[in-house]
Order: sequence, then structure tokens, then C-alpha cells
Amino acid sequence: QDSSMMRLAAALLLMSAIDTVALVVSSNKVLTPRMQSYLGACMGESHRLPSPRMQLPLDTPPHVAVVGAGWGGWGAAKALLENGCRVTLLDALPDPCGEAPYLTPTGKPFEAGTRGFWKDYPNIEALVCSLGLNEDEVFTPFTNSSFYSPDGLEATAPVFSASSYPELPSPLGQVAATFSLFERIPVADRVTMLGLLYAILDFTRDEETFEKYDRMTAHELFIRMGLSKRLVDDFVRPTLLVGLFKPPEELSAAVAMELLYFYALAHQTSFDVRWIKDRTIAQAIILPLASALGELPLPQLSDSTSAAASEGTGGGAALRVLGGARVTAVRVGVDGLVSGLDYSTKGEAAALDDIDACVLALGAKGLKSVMGGSSRLARAAPELCRAAALGGIDVVSVRLWLDKKVVTRSPANVFSRFDELRGAGGTFFMLDQLQPEENLWGQDEPQGSVVACDFYNSGALMPLPDEAVVELLMEKLLPSAVPAFSDAVLVDSFVQKYPGAVTWFSPGSFRSRPPLETSVSNLVCAGDWVRMGEREHGAKGLCQERALVSGLEAANALARKGVLGGAHTTEHEVIPIRSDEPQVVAGRNINRRLMQALSPLGLASPWVR
Ligand SMILES: Cc1cc2nc3c(=O)[nH]c(=O)nc-3n(C[C@H](O)[C@H](O)[C@H](O)COP(=O)(O)OP(=O)(O)OC[C@H]3O[C@@H](n4cnc5c(N)ncnc54)[C@H](O)[C@@H]3O)c2cc1C
Repeated sequence: QDSSMMRLAAALLLMSAIDTVALVVSSNKVLTPRMQSYLGACMGESHRLPSPRMQLPLDTPPHVAVVGAGWGGWGAAKALLENGCRVTLLDALPDPCGEAPYLTPTGKPFEAGTRGFWKDYPNIEALVCSLGLNEDEVFTPFTNSSFYSPDGLEATAPVFSASSYPELPSPLGQVAATFSLFERIPVADRVTMLGLLYAILDFTRDEETFEKYDRMTAHELFIRMGLSKRLVDDFVRPTLLVGLFKPPEELSAAVAMELLYFYALAHQTSFDVRWIKDRTIAQAIILPLASALGELPLPQLSDSTSAAASEGTGGGAALRVLGGARVTAVRVGVDGLVSGLDYSTKGEAAALDDIDACVLALGAKGLKSVMGGSSRLARAAPELCRAAALGGIDVVSVRLWLDKKVVTRSPANVFSRFDELRGAGGTFFMLDQLQPEENLWGQDEPQGSVVACDFYNSGALMPLPDEAVVELLMEKLLPSAVPAFSDAVLVDSFVQKYPGAVTWFSPGSFRSRPPLETSVSNLVCAGDWVRMGEREHGAKGLCQERALVSGLEAANALARKGVLGGAHTTEHEVIPIRSDEPQVVAGRNINRRLMQALSPLGLASPWVR
């Protein structure tokens, strides 16, 4: 009764103050959507009906739903929690926090895909430090990577940061290394790389030029820039297949250029990569992050409100994580704002009703399934329908446990030009060279090497039975690359297929990719494929750093817009990658001026349209 009286008194006070706050409501600057709806209803705006949630006192922290617990979702959750919000993080996977490692039917650990951490991942490094983790205990040292073809070892990429190579202005060091490494590629083919270097100076000239490059396939661009077929087939194609998971003829030329620049050409050390030193990314980084965030209490609650809030959150923690929660719909209210979510969990339908804002941190496949059930959102945000129509790429992950140790030149390896790949890209990682072997065998006694293989763009391998995929590796691919694999006997294996699981940067897809901010003011997007506009970050492509940054930026966008209320405007720091080197900046400036002069004659970048 007391609290009803207090609410009534609060409502009367509010009504008397309505004239003063009307301006604030209309400018959307200070109040959360929930508060705006409440006040809107008091002011007689019949289209803003108060929901049951509005009966809670107004000093309750804003509640944000984050859909998808990949790097994007966790980045958004972290930034929102540190900005004093209450967050519900939902993911279709059963264990978004990495508490229960995935085990094969024979009890051995398995991770979907082996993911590297490149030199320029400053926000992931900062996250690891902020969790009090020792970087050297989380990551291996930077490692070499080798390229194998049916002819055997093609090349081994050096670790520039750990070598005695002097740091030369980019791309001199990398080009010199490529020249000496890819000995089988004739010099006449290697010099055609210059065309690619020029395109890299040109493609970011302005937004219009970028979109022209985006509409062209990387294959077409390589022809127009004069790259030799041999150079493309032996070096550029396998690099793109394992970097963007598609061959040049199916990739946006702009995103292919972004990838090559970010991972290989920006700095001599750009290609240096390291791996998780023990167990999985989920166990090594996400679990400590989830634990740290899970300890954050609900902020700024008065005594009377904390009881109500803790009912919903289980003990007053600001973060609630719902694993095994597949979101089926995002509900948009008559006021045009996201008001709730529908999801299914353990075969039952459930709903989240009291949200002030939402972050969609999904890939194309996830977005498609959510948009399919969200008819009002589909009307309100056509850009999300376009994004949901984009395709994804199939991936197959395999783990092999062998009876003998196989010695390879480097722990990270790329398959290149094997017909048996059926158009897929392939990598194999010698986990026993990267991680303590006692943690790779589950309850079994360690025997020999443990090999993790991933196939990208693997549509033509998907119909094969698991045994045939294992046979392909054991009988053909691995022994052709490293003959010592012929002597090893398979002890155990596990295959997982992920249809449409990865972002496909197809030609012309840039405009259709989801924007950070959508037409619905309390709905933002995160994920590696999100276009960040003015907040665009230097980390590019299929990239954990990019996904994390997109999540931080999605949360920052909500804070900036005032959607979270005037008390929640703190933005999370986003660390830029290393600056472009002076010769690149100068080259771009000269090219820009030249193209500006040629533009009136219709001769600026005539190879793109
Ligand atoms: C095999 C492989 C190798 C890779 N190698 C590297 C590498 O070496 N280095 C690197 O930096 N990057 C690598 N990547 C890319 C990197 O992993 C991604 O760019 C990054 O993880 C994307 O994060 P995200 O948050 O955007 O999306 P995701 O991690 O895909 O997260 C989306 C989440 O949404 C959930 N979801 C989907 N639908 C729903 C729904 N309806 N309801 C609720 N939840 C839903 C999914 O379960 C998923 O957890 C690799 C990727 C793969 C597949």
C-alpha cells in the first residue's frame, strides 16, 4: 500500500512537472524510451500506452537486451554494464559463458574453428589486461604459418616481431619476404603484385569509390590491375579463402583489399598471429569476462526498488545470461520502439517484456531467423530485411587425435590448390605444438599429435559423411602436405558442420550489411559484418577484434543517442589500430589529388564503376 501511495505521489509530481519536461521528451535527450512512454501517456499521447514495466520506479537502471553472445554481444554487454545498465544477454547456444567446455561423444575437448589473434587487436588485448589476465598466459607467442600445395611446402611466413628483420617501411619488408619465400612463383609473376598495391591506395579514396570497388569481384579487380594468374592462384586466392572464406570471384573487391591491407600490408608486423595457449577462447577469455561482469551489482537502486529488480535478475546482479534461448521475434510497440523479445528455450516459448533498448549481435543466419518472426520490425527497419537477405558461408571443423607426434614446420598451416578441397579453403593447426597436450585428450592418456582442421566455403564438402571428411584429411590432404602424416594412425576423430555460419562479404553487399544504428531508435546492431559509418574501425573482415569493437560501438551509440537516459551516457573506450604509415598516407593523398583532377574528364579510377 505504501509503495502504491508513493507511486501515486510520484505520478502527481510528475504530472505537475510535465510542462517543463515536455521539451526534454520531444528532444529524446535525457529520458529512456520507457520513461518517455510513461510521460507521453501522462501527457495524453494516446499512442504511448504505459506498459506493465512502467509501473517500476523511474530510477531503475535501463534494461537492455543483447541478442547473440559472440564477441559483438559480449562487447556490447560489457560497455552497457559499465554504463550502469541492466543487461539480459541471450544466445541460442547452451553455454554462452564458456563454463562447460564442449566435449565430443568420447569426452575429448572440441572447439568450433581455431581462431588467431593478430598483431593489431588492441581492444581484445586491453580486455584481457582489464580482466587481470596475463597476456603471455592467455596467448601463445606469435607463430609462423606455412602454406602447403599438392607439391608440398610452398612457403613459411616469418614472425616479423620476433625476427632479426629490420622493420622497414611497409610494404617493403613484406614484399621482400614474399619474394624470398614463394620461391616457386617466378619473379615476373611476383612483380605484378604492384597493381594490387596501387588498388590499396585507391579504394578508400572516398565513400563512392569504396562502393564501386565493393560492387566488383576481387577476381575482376585482379585482372584489371594486371596481377598474374600464377600469383593469384598460388598466393592471393588461398590467402582470401582462409581470410574471408571465399575465392576472389565471390568476394567484394573492397573487402578483399581491406583484408589484405589490415592483415598483411599496413605494417611489416601486421601478419604476426598468435593463438590461445590453453583450452578454448571461451574458457580462456569469455569465462573470466562473464564472471567479472556477473559480479557487477545493479547500480543506483534505492532500497525500495532493489527487491523488485532482484526478483527479475536473480540476486541483484546487473547481468543475466540466458543460454539456450533462441530469439524468435523482436517486438516493436505502437510507439515504434522495441518493447520486448520472444524466444524459445527448452522447447517452450518465453518472452522478455521490460526492455528499454536492444542490441542485435547476430550474423546473417541469426538475423534472418529473427526477422522472419518480427513483422512490425520488418516494416520499421527495411535495412534489417536487406541484411537478413544476405548469405552466409558453410564451415566444417574437424579434430583428429593421432597415435604419433607429427613434426611440422609451423603449428598453423594453410592448404592451397588441392582439387580434393572441392573449392573450399582449408587450414590445419597442430594443437599439440600450441597447447599442453594433457588438456587435449579428455580422460584419455595423451598419445600423439592433435590436429584441428577447418574447411571454409565448404558447401561441396557438406554432403560427405563425417568418415569421408576424415578420410580425405588422413589419406590425401595431410600426407600430401607433410609426408610424416602417412605414418600416423588415427585414434579418434570428430567432425562438426556449420551451414551458413559465417559472414559472406559478397560483391555489392556493403550497402545491405546492417548499420550500427537502425531506423528504430532503441535498436542497434553489432557483429563483424556491421557497417560502423563514422565510427568505422581499422580492424577488418572476419575478425574477432572487429566484432568486439562493433559491440562496444553499438552500446556507445545507445548512450550517445540518450536512449538509456541522462544518467547513462558514458561511452566505452575504443582503441584505434596503429596509424597508417607516412608513405601510405602520402601515396593516398597524391592519388586522391590526381583522381580529383581526372574526375571531370571521367577518368578517375576507370576500372571500377
Ligand atoms: C572457423 C572459423 C575460423 C575463424 N578464424 C578467425 C581467426 O583466426 N581470427 C579472427 O579474428 N576471427 C576468426 N574468425 C571469425 C570470428 O570468429 C568472427 O568474426 C567473430 O567471432 C564474429 O563474432 P560476432 O559476435 O560478430 O558473431 P558470432 O560469434 O557468430 O555470434 C553470434 C551469436 O548469435 C547467436 N545466435 C544466432 N541466432 C540466434 C538467435 N536467433 N537467438 C539467440 N542467439 C542467436 C549465435 O549462437 C552466436 O553465438 C573465424 C571464424 C570461423 C567460423
